Amino acid sequence: MSYDKVEVPEDGEAITLADEETGELDVPENPIIPIIHGDGIGTDVGPAAQQVLDAAAEATGRSIAWMRVYAGASARDKYGENLPEDTVSAIREHRVAIKGPLTTPVGSGFRSLNVALRKTLDAYANVRPTYYLDGVPSPVKAPEKMDMVIFRENTEDVYAGIEWEAGTDEVETVRAFVEDEMGVDDVIHDGPVGIGIKPITEFGSKRLIREAFDYALENDRDSVTLVHKGNIMKFTEAAFRDWGYELAEEEYGDELITEDELWDEHDGDQPEGTVVVKDRIADNMLQQVLTRTDEYDVIATMNLNGDYFSDAAGAQIGGLGIAPGINRGHGRALAEPVHGSAPKYAGEDKVNPTAMILSGREMLDYLGWKDAADLVRDAVEETISSGKVTYDLHRQIDGGEKLATSEFADAIVENIEKLS
Ligand code: NAP
Repeated sequence: MSYDKVEVPEDGEAITLADEETGELDVPENPIIPIIHGDGIGTDVGPAAQQVLDAAAEATGRSIAWMRVYAGASARDKYGENLPEDTVSAIREHRVAIKGPLTTPVGSGFRSLNVALRKTLDAYANVRPTYYLDGVPSPVKAPEKMDMVIFRENTEDVYAGIEWEAGTDEVETVRAFVEDEMGVDDVIHDGPVGIGIKPITEFGSKRLIREAFDYALENDRDSVTLVHKGNIMKFTEAAFRDWGYELAEEEYGDELITEDELWDEHDGDQPEGTVVVKDRIADNMLQQVLTRTDEYDVIATMNLNGDYFSDAAGAQIGGLGIAPGINRGHGRALAEPVHGSAPKYAGEDKVNPTAMILSGREMLDYLGWKDAADLVRDAVEETISSGKVTYDLHRQIDGGEKLATSEFADAIVENIEKLS
């Protein structure tokens, strides 16, 4: 495929799909990987992550041929559009990519480019590993108890973009349908109204929950918790929970047991090789994750819950500067940090690149480069625990050395060289 709006590297080979059914990849030792540095602080954390990932690849006898692709402000500056088709095609063709944050104006302007990218790629599982790194300051007493992997559904829910603005003909058509055709009286107040629709499908729920179950089984995790607000939203959030239990029964047999079965049939003694499936109501879950952190392991939830929950959980292990993520589906992956573009710090060489670097670590793991992925984690941990940190962590610890984004990346690279 040829591209006009992409910086094609001179060398490197394309990653290809080895098995359509499992999504398994054929990964060369010098893969072409598209990268979007992103808006705001993306211009700081993007290059920092690239530098660290290059060092980890080199230390394990490989190389990455970066393909610069553009979205957001950089795409507007260069090509006069927010999301060039070439960017989407390059990511689709090369299968595994990494991006920094992209700015989304609140209320007006264009829709979220992040949501658009995840939807176009149908990267339906947003995976957010939430684990503690030694030396990271935390607002809780025992942050090391946190070791969760959050699977957030990425394509449905109130984020699906089915909504109408107050004052439009469309919203009045929807109001009339709801009131006149569906007989819903006395719910929507008179006057201007904005209306959004919350689709939760069996298909979307089961394919996300299946990813979480498979991950838990492959990685010897103890449990998968389905997080929902089904007590209030019975036909969407409760349906998600019910489809989760149905899937466990239909496809996993004895490998998955419910919490009731754990107690009724096994006296609370979990049989080896099994994963317990449980569910929690979302608001309760937000406090459980603080008070009973180590009872939770793999989480499967819908789009909105997952967005809130992962930021709250991320705060326990050091905040947005730390929390990584990766979007997966159909043998494709787009790694991206949980944080946004923090425009007030843009270009200051100040913010913490750890979240972007650890998102890159998830990407290396997805490529099957476990040695390189572990090296990145160990080098980041080594750097932070030696007191070398960026401003966000520095303000929470006594002593330590406050580093700029680029100096922090240099320190991690030094540790990669030392540890390899
Ligand atoms: P944000 O950009 O994540 O920043 C909020 C605050 O979090 C920052 O002011 C800073 O806190 C801290 N923070 C974030 N990233 C950090 C880092 N790398 N190192 C250290 N601290 C960091 O959230 P926002 O201000 O709500 O959103 C700004 C824009 O980003 C919006 O347009 C939003 O739509 C977009 N966004 C994009 C994505 C994405 O691309 N996936 C995700 C979320 C938001 P302190 O000021 O306290 O130091």
